Amino acid sequence: MVNKSPDMESLNRDIDSCTFCRSNALFDNGELRHILGAGQENAPSVMFVLMNPTARNPTLSHKYSGERVSYAGVSSLWRILIKVGFLPQSLLSIFKSPAWDDKRSRALVEHLDRASLYLTELVKCPSRQAETPDTQTIQHNLAFMRREIEIVNPRSIIAFGLLPFYSLTRQRIVLGDYHEKLLHGDDSHFHLHERIGDYHHKVYPCYFPTGRGNYLRAFEILKALRSLVIADVTDAKAEVQLTFF
Ligand SMILES: [Zn+2]
Repeated sequence: MVNKSPDMESLNRDIDSCTFCRSNALFDNGELRHILGAGQENAPSVMFVLMNPTARNPTLSHKYSGERVSYAGVSSLWRILIKVGFLPQSLLSIFKSPAWDDKRSRALVEHLDRASLYLTELVKCPSRQAETPDTQTIQHNLAFMRREIEIVNPRSIIAFGLLPFYSLTRQRIVLGDYHEKLLHGDDSHFHLHERIGDYHHKVYPCYFPTGRGNYLRAFEILKALRSLVIADVTDAKAEVQLTFF
């Protein structure tokens, strides 16, 4: 199991103490727990940001007390990360049985950790259906998200879907244009709307890879971005090693 830092434990306690969703009729009445980020929490090469968790995630049930992981039990997101090469092929065996348990959650977290990846969601408050969160909900959760970015300090952020991307950057873009430019070699990134900590965090937009998103374009964007964000890490490691000479 990946040990959490005191700052992360404190953030997770505050997320669990959130009462915003209990007073909002849109959300479940305390039967579901909040989602927590998972993976490498110490300057990972990539922080993936999804939108919001739903009751489809078995790790959010109040009957489950193990590690919570975004999209646990939903293989489509994991399959695309495996296909692009962010995660190893062997991880697919986790999704063979429909029943979920903590052993599987811990395996996902350990693989994320080893691959220098961190997975989280913009909105931590759970909802029963896959509904788009309103402005108030996003504003409330952005405070958690800022703290999470400061603690994790990712080298790059990949936002799945326009709403998480806009919420982080305040940039209005057309994903189709970004996709087109990226395929023609323009791999420009965006920055967080507010500078957090000592760094200007790079944010890359991507289609949501499942359901109402666009799997093929998400695959193409992730494939193009993978070499870019992994190269970032290699460069940083090389710099650190050089300082010893
Ligand atoms: Zn909440």
